[in-house]
Amino acid sequence: VTTHTHSEEDWTEYLTQSLRAPLVVRYGRSRRLPLQLRRALKGSREPAQLRLHGGVFESPTDEVLALVGTWVAAVMQGQSPQPETRTRIRSWIDEQLQHIPATRREPKIEVEGRAHDLNALADRVVSSSFEGQFGAALTRPLVTWGRRGKSRSRRSLRMGSYQSNQDLIRIHSVLDQTAVPEWFVRFILFHEFLHAALPSQRDEAGRKRHHTPEFRRREREHPDYQRSSDWEKIHIRALIRSASLDRPMR
Ligand SMILES: [Zn+2]
Repeated sequence: VTTHTHSEEDWTEYLTQSLRAPLVVRYGRSRRLPLQLRRALKGSREPAQLRLHGGVFESPTDEVLALVGTWVAAVMQGQSPQPETRTRIRSWIDEQLQHIPATRREPKIEVEGRAHDLNALADRVVSSSFEGQFGAALTRPLVTWGRRGKSRSRRSLRMGSYQSNQDLIRIHSVLDQTAVPEWFVRFILFHEFLHAALPSQRDEAGRKRHHTPEFRRREREHPDYQRSSDWEKIHIRALIRSASLDRPMR
């Protein structure tokens, strides 16, 4: 059996040629979802994105290359891949994962919250704004509340973040209180899901741009964009205070 070392670019080139469709391959480290396809957003010039576990897929055999090609072709056409294709890919993944130690501890996931149920909100965000983008609900990024307790920052607040290697969205736990409207939490989630859907790009100077013009345009199109920015402006000081004291907002 021959294997070749494949970079993200090699995979991109191979799949783009064999599928004759634009596609970008990105390596990640998700053991939970080592193979995921993100279809292109409607009306977007961004290509579809295939996320592969870098350790599992960096030395594919010819058979694995072909299997992944078949799998992607089916999923891109909205079909479910043949059971045989799935099984053979699955056994390759399981085999490879055995040799890859789970170095990082799996992130702690906390979704229930005191005031807001993050999973329910995330499902709503995905079904209303990312139709088809993340495939079945199971393959969307995971969401979790951030660490509880007093925050050290007195000047700013990072309300959400998207960690692409873990495919994980974290929402600041200060938003988990009844004084924060549900639609505001949904908007913050929407912003982070948009990061998962539209990967960052490099500008001419080689800097990574997370908020590309397309990102900003899509954000502004969200029906809650205006009231969310207004709500944030009015309440940001109270939120920062609430986070640093670890007490409810007043
Ligand atoms: Zn952002």
